[in-house]
Amino acid sequence: MNIAIASILQESNTFSPVMTHYEDFSPVFGQQAFTRHKGKLTEMGGFINVLEKAGTAIVPVCAAWAITANRLDRAGYEQLVKAFEHHLRRAKPDALLLAMHGAQTAAGEDDVEGAVLQIAREVLGPDKPIVLTLDLHANITRRMVALAAAMVGYHTYPHIDMFEVGQKAARLMLRILRGEVRPRMAYRKLPLIIQAEN
Ligand SMILES: [Zn+2]
Repeated sequence: MNIAIASILQESNTFSPVMTHYEDFSPVFGQQAFTRHKGKLTEMGGFINVLEKAGTAIVPVCAAWAITANRLDRAGYEQLVKAFEHHLRRAKPDALLLAMHGAQTAAGEDDVEGAVLQIAREVLGPDKPIVLTLDLHANITRRMVALAAAMVGYHTYPHIDMFEVGQKAARLMLRILRGEVRPRMAYRKLPLIIQAEN
C-alpha cells in the first residue's frame, strides 16, 4: 500500500486588502514535503507518525501553507493545483491523506478544498479513499462531502491539536484500507451563523 500525504492550507479572508501569491505558500514537493513535516506537530507530522509505526509506504506529494490573507491570485492557484496534480499522479497512490483548512479561496474559486479534492478524485479514481483533515471552522461544501471518504476536524481553539488530528485521520485511513470500517458521509447545513469558537 502506498499512501500519499499532502497539505495545502490557508484560511482565506476575503476582506483582507492583501492578496495571496504562490510564493506565500512556500510550497515544496516530494521528499522535501516529508522532511519539512517529519517530527513536527502538524497534521502531516501526525500522518507520518502513524504510517511509519504501521510500516506503510508513505508517498509525500506536497506541503504548502500560507498565512491568512485575501484570495490566491489565479496564476498562483493554477500553478499550485497543477503541481499538486503532477506529483500526486506520479505517486500512484492507493489512498490519500490530505490536510487543508476548509476556508481557502482563490480568484475564481470559492471552494479550493472542493476543487483540490476533485483533482485528487480524478487522479485516484472513484474507489481509493481520501481522508481530509480540516480546521474546526471549515466551510464544508456538498462537493467536499461527495469526494472525501471521511473528514477529521480540529477539536481545540486555539488550535493545538493538529498533530493528533493527523494521527486520527491516518489511523482511520488504515482501518478503511484494512476493511475494518466503511465510513458514510452525511451533510446537512443548519440555518445558523455561529462564532468560530463554537
Ligand atoms: Zn482556525
